[in-house]
Amino acid sequence: MTTNQPREIDIAIIGGGPAGMAAGLYAARALRSTVLFEGGVLGGQIATSDRVENYPGFPEGIGGFELAMAFHQQAEHHGMETVYAMVSSLEQAEDGRFRLVTEGSGDFIAKAVIVTAGADPNKLGIPGEIELTGKGVSYCATCDAAFFKGMDVAVVGGGDAAVEEAIFTTRYASKVTLIHRRDELRAQAVLQERARSLENLEFMWDTVVEEVHGGSAATGEVEKLVIRNVKTDERSELPVKALFIFIGQTPNSSLLKGKVELDAGGHAIVNPWMETTVPGLFVAGDVRADAARQVVSSAGDGATAAIRADHYITDHYS
Ligand code: NAP
Repeated sequence: MTTNQPREIDIAIIGGGPAGMAAGLYAARALRSTVLFEGGVLGGQIATSDRVENYPGFPEGIGGFELAMAFHQQAEHHGMETVYAMVSSLEQAEDGRFRLVTEGSGDFIAKAVIVTAGADPNKLGIPGEIELTGKGVSYCATCDAAFFKGMDVAVVGGGDAAVEEAIFTTRYASKVTLIHRRDELRAQAVLQERARSLENLEFMWDTVVEEVHGGSAATGEVEKLVIRNVKTDERSELPVKALFIFIGQTPNSSLLKGKVELDAGGHAIVNPWMETTVPGLFVAGDVRADAARQVVSSAGDGATAAIRADHYITDHYS
């Protein structure tokens, strides 16, 4: 017999990255009925990270996917349940509880909600970018660099992600050109130093990519970029087989719009306990403002949110 009755739970967690799974672990260990909703791939951005070297406890580093699976296994071992569905709507009822509507897995009523929906990579918005995504245009070098062994490739961006991924790509590519719109990187010094020491990594300053071309050969893959020097306005072509784009991320905060305060970039503003201005609604990880955006800090955020959500339920429902 099917029923349209919503399922009642204590804590709903939206998003299965490090923040969500740490929240799930803490919430389940507090003996709250806890459901984590994931509409894509568990692990969030670390699922596609080749190696995570800055998560404490792993002296040799650990594979991103392996770490994500370990987080998930640990949280489920302690009682967290996973529902593989997108949450399409989140509304607070008059009694203070939240109704979550999922795509295909029914409705849920939760006493507290922790949004850990992460962020998606920004696009350049240039001709050829969308058409050639998966055919040489990529937002994850750790996933795709190995396809371009012995070839010339380009990376765009000047932050930690761009430099880190450019360094990784030098393992495979014969030459990596890191294209940045200014003449100064914003990446941390240790990464800059490492990048500058690599013979097959070249910097191209004050330059933007305006077009990606490909598709004329039988393979339909990236062939060249049209680039422009922003100081001289001179245009030229750069033959490459791949373009890796790392120009920041956009937080997945659509469920929060109109409910909680967001900063100019769309990140939710929370207090140090990950509380929003809506009682019972918490936000943790990359989707919140002022986050360090590290696996360890996201996991810490998730734990903090779950501890506070547990206290919130005790205070309001006991
Ligand atoms: P980010 O720090 O915001 O850097 C984005 C870069 O892209 C900037 O250099 C920016 O240029 C450039 N950019 C933005 N829009 C552009 C456009 N339309 N065209 C060309 N270039 C554009 O983003 P991120 O590197 O993804 O890092 C995000 C956060 O994650 C940061 O807090 C970072 O520290 C963290 N992170 C840490 C690690 C690590 O510690 N291992 C690794 C990855 C990320 P401008 O510099 O000119 O603004």
